[in-house]
Amino acid sequence: MIETAALYELENQHGSGAYGKRPTALVRGEGVYVFDELGNRYLDATSGQGVAALGHCHPAVIDAISAQAATLITCHESFYNDRRAELYALLASIMPADLKRFFLCNSGAEANEGALKVAKLLTGRNGIVAAKRSFHGRTAGALSLTWTQKYRKPFQEWLPAVEYVAFNNIEAAEQAISESTAAVVVEAIQGEGGVHPADDAYLRALRERCDQTGAMLIVDEIQTGFGRTGKWFGFERAGIVPDIISLGKAIAGGLPMGAVCWRNAHGPIDRATHGSTFGGNPLACAAALAAITTMRDEALAEKARVNGEWFFAELAALDLRGARQLRGRGLMIGLELRGRVTPVLKALQEHGVLALPAGLNTLRLLPPLTINREQLGVVADAIKAVLG
Ligand SMILES: *Cc1c(COP(=O)(O)O)cnc(C)c1O
Repeated sequence: MIETAALYELENQHGSGAYGKRPTALVRGEGVYVFDELGNRYLDATSGQGVAALGHCHPAVIDAISAQAATLITCHESFYNDRRAELYALLASIMPADLKRFFLCNSGAEANEGALKVAKLLTGRNGIVAAKRSFHGRTAGALSLTWTQKYRKPFQEWLPAVEYVAFNNIEAAEQAISESTAAVVVEAIQGEGGVHPADDAYLRALRERCDQTGAMLIVDEIQTGFGRTGKWFGFERAGIVPDIISLGKAIAGGLPMGAVCWRNAHGPIDRATHGSTFGGNPLACAAALAAITTMRDEALAEKARVNGEWFFAELAALDLRGARQLRGRGLMIGLELRGRVTPVLKALQEHGVLALPAGLNTLRLLPPLTINREQLGVVADAIKAVLG
């Protein structure tokens, strides 16, 4: 087995340098736990950045991937495929209203790229409105939608112009959205930006203004989708139907996959206007089929809602000295701190709990939706020990 020091050295020497890394090598996962190379166990309240909603190495996902790997791994969308057809049907069955058209891709950023292209193709317009504090990904189109300066600034000259409006400010959005707007892009809950939920009234006002002007309302559900917030999708709470949705993270049980979804009323896009070599490959489709079927059959969205409410109340009752505000829905929870989050993440890890930052001073918790109350209690105890 490779030694720890050698492993770190190899990654540091040959990796891009783009990532700040914690001095821990994760080598195995099982349910809500991950293990480092020394055998130390951590409760993964990150779900591997919101991906492992079913926990790590869920048996249904393992079986689906294993069987499909031995059957057919790759199949371009210029041919039909059994697993892909089944996935389209399953996705269509969980989507409300006429959100029944999909473009399958390989990541969240790619889903937002696709969403922008669909909006442009459907409207023929150029204008884009996004929210301050947003995060939509790192490729050029998705990056242009991303507010955070440190991600966007080095590339600004290459990025399309986007008008940023204050999040949850109805008046500002109504002013910015016009007859030349192609797309209005918003997260159901801003994740990276600090776990700020979109108000129901805000989403309804965006829907109304987009109806008035013919702009496409794109809701980024990459982090909030697939039960995370206590519903299948975050926008459902507001009772609206977006024109376009971007999906990723938890969609395929841990395998890389993204998807753009849009309303049937808008029809398909023209041939050859978009495409992807790996998009809709049978291996990822099989994993997604297993993951989404399990979420549905185990009612994980409802479980996230009920356990999330309980956990939120537990955290609120801790009355933490180091905390300023608790936010979130379902099992997407942000705790704004009085100080920096980095030392808190380190201390939590020493207590056996992995958590995420959201900006400089918000602690973000995205545990697997399969987590039970006893395990959530362990997270709450660690937070109390560190911030109490
Ligand atoms: C993670 C995330 C993305 C980017 O997804 P990648 O798979 O990293 O490209 C985009 N939008 C939101 C809201 C996200 O949380």
